[in-house]
Amino acid sequence: MAALTRRSFLTGPLLAAGAATLPVPGHTAAPIAGTQGPGVYRYQLGDHQLTALYDGTWYLPIDDKFVRNASGASVNEALAAAFLAPGVLPISFTALLVNTGAKLVLIDTGTAGQIADSAGFMNANLAAAGISPSAIDIILISHFHPDHIDGIKTKDGDKVFANAEILVPEPELTFWMDDGNMSRTAGTVHRYFLNARRIFKDIVKEVRPFKPGAEVAPGIVSVPAFGHTPGHTAFAIHSGNQSILAMSDTAREPWLFVRHPEWQPSYDMDGPLAVKTRIAMLDRAAADRMLVEAYHFPFPACGHITKTGGGYELVPAMWQPL
Ligand SMILES: [Zn+2]
Repeated sequence: MAALTRRSFLTGPLLAAGAATLPVPGHTAAPIAGTQGPGVYRYQLGDHQLTALYDGTWYLPIDDKFVRNASGASVNEALAAAFLAPGVLPISFTALLVNTGAKLVLIDTGTAGQIADSAGFMNANLAAAGISPSAIDIILISHFHPDHIDGIKTKDGDKVFANAEILVPEPELTFWMDDGNMSRTAGTVHRYFLNARRIFKDIVKEVRPFKPGAEVAPGIVSVPAFGHTPGHTAFAIHSGNQSILAMSDTAREPWLFVRHPEWQPSYDMDGPLAVKTRIAMLDRAAADRMLVEAYHFPFPACGHITKTGGGYELVPAMWQPL
């Protein structure tokens, strides 16, 4: 008997049924769609309703220096293990909306089309979820990198969420608004300083800084997760006897930094501290079998973490119909 090769598998009897699907006379073929359906995913946490709002994906070309303590070849191997192309990192963005019953709380705000053409859809998806930006009561910011704060304003500088109180981690506000810190930076980080000023300078009096560890909204407690940035913050959300840990950028793209938590991407400002924070949080999530959510996990950006031989693995949540 002939061996089943890849080609015979793809063209052989398994697909013979497909070959019988001949065009029906007079039937018009469906047009090829150019877009996806809405990127909205709702799930329940006790009495809270959570809504994952997809903003899009940025395909970032990366070089050998992208991970400080791993070679470009090792990074490409990790991408290949996830069936991804070498030299390009898909960075997915998903904001999390929490409806506590009394308040609508948005955690981070999307890219507002200011980072890549293939992202910036959060507000369209908010509309698809039936919610107006003016209905948001509280915005929680995890840290001041542009992909998390750009959605606060339009490109023209108008506030997007007219009635929202904006809460930010105090050490993050202190660090990024300090002119001395800015003067000591160059390149990308310097641009982040300028961007933080563009977003916050004229509304800084309206922004409420919180101490890491403080309860920031009903049932939402901030969790210090320093390293990615000086004031980077995660959020633990509780309702009834259920909880979820919104990890923000603690673990980032799972194929690289959940599987290889010791790797230090160049965007972690304090690499060794970020690794320590990352491993502590992933370990806790795995040990406690916690439901987790993270801004750069693939949509709908929630699931569980298991421990493996050398690192951890994200087990994505199954899409539930109701
Ligand atoms: Zn980010």
